[in-house]
Amino acid sequence: MSGSPYSELAAAVSSLRQQVSDLHQELVRYDLVVWTAGNVSGRVPGHDLFVIKPSGVRYDRLSPDSMIVCDLDGQVVEGELSPSSDTAAHAYVYRHMPDVGGVVHTHSTYACAWAARGEPVPCVLTAMADEFGDEIPVGPFALIGDDSIGRGIVGTLGEHRSPAVLMQNHGVFTIGGDARAAVKAAVMCEDVARSVHISRQLGEPIPIDPGDVDRLHARYQNVYGQPARPVPATDRGARP
Ligand SMILES: [Zn+2]
Repeated sequence: MSGSPYSELAAAVSSLRQQVSDLHQELVRYDLVVWTAGNVSGRVPGHDLFVIKPSGVRYDRLSPDSMIVCDLDGQVVEGELSPSSDTAAHAYVYRHMPDVGGVVHTHSTYACAWAARGEPVPCVLTAMADEFGDEIPVGPFALIGDDSIGRGIVGTLGEHRSPAVLMQNHGVFTIGGDARAAVKAAVMCEDVARSVHISRQLGEPIPIDPGDVDRLHARYQNVYGQPARPVPATDRGARP
C-alpha cells in the first residue's frame, strides 16, 4: 500500500500528531499556559482535517496518540478523548482562512492584561514590526459555545497583518502557515506585550513611523524563511 493516498494521509496525520503534541511543550517552556488552559492545532496539508489537543489533559500527559483529529466542522474523526473546548474556534479559522495551517490559543499573562483592558498593543518595537507588521489588535468579546470566537478572530485578523489577536476579556489567538509558526507568534506576542507594558511604566513609548513598520515587516518576512502568514499583495516583490 506504500504510496497510496490512504497511506500518505495516515503518514501526514501521524507526523502532525507528533508535531502538535511536541509544540504543546513549547507553551509550557515559554510560560504561556497554566494547568490545561491553552492549545495548539495544525491543519493536515491538503486535507480538510486538523489535529488538536484533547480537552482537560495535563501538558505532561500529552502524547502523539492522545491528539484528536477533527474535520473542519470541528467533529471528531479520530481519537479517544474529547477535543479541546476551543475546537469550534480553531475549525472556524481553518474553514474561513484557507492559507492558515496552524492555530494557537493561550491565556498568557501580559497579553491577557492588555486583552482585559480591550487595548491593542501599539507597534513601538522593531521586533513587533518584524513579526506583527502592526499593532496587535483586539477582537470582540465573545462567549464560548458557538462560532462567536471564530468569527471574532477571522473578522479581526482579516483586517490586520498581525498573526495574533487579543480577544477582549479573554486571551490570545494566533495563526500561522503551520502550527510551529502559530506557536512562534504566541511566544512573540507575550514577549512584546510584556516589554511594552514595562515601557509604559516608564512613560509613553515612542511610535514607529508606519512607513518604517512596513519596511521592517517586508524585510523580515522575506529574509527569514517562510512567512508566518501570507504576505499581503502590497508587500510582494519587496525582496531586494
Ligand atoms: Zn481561552
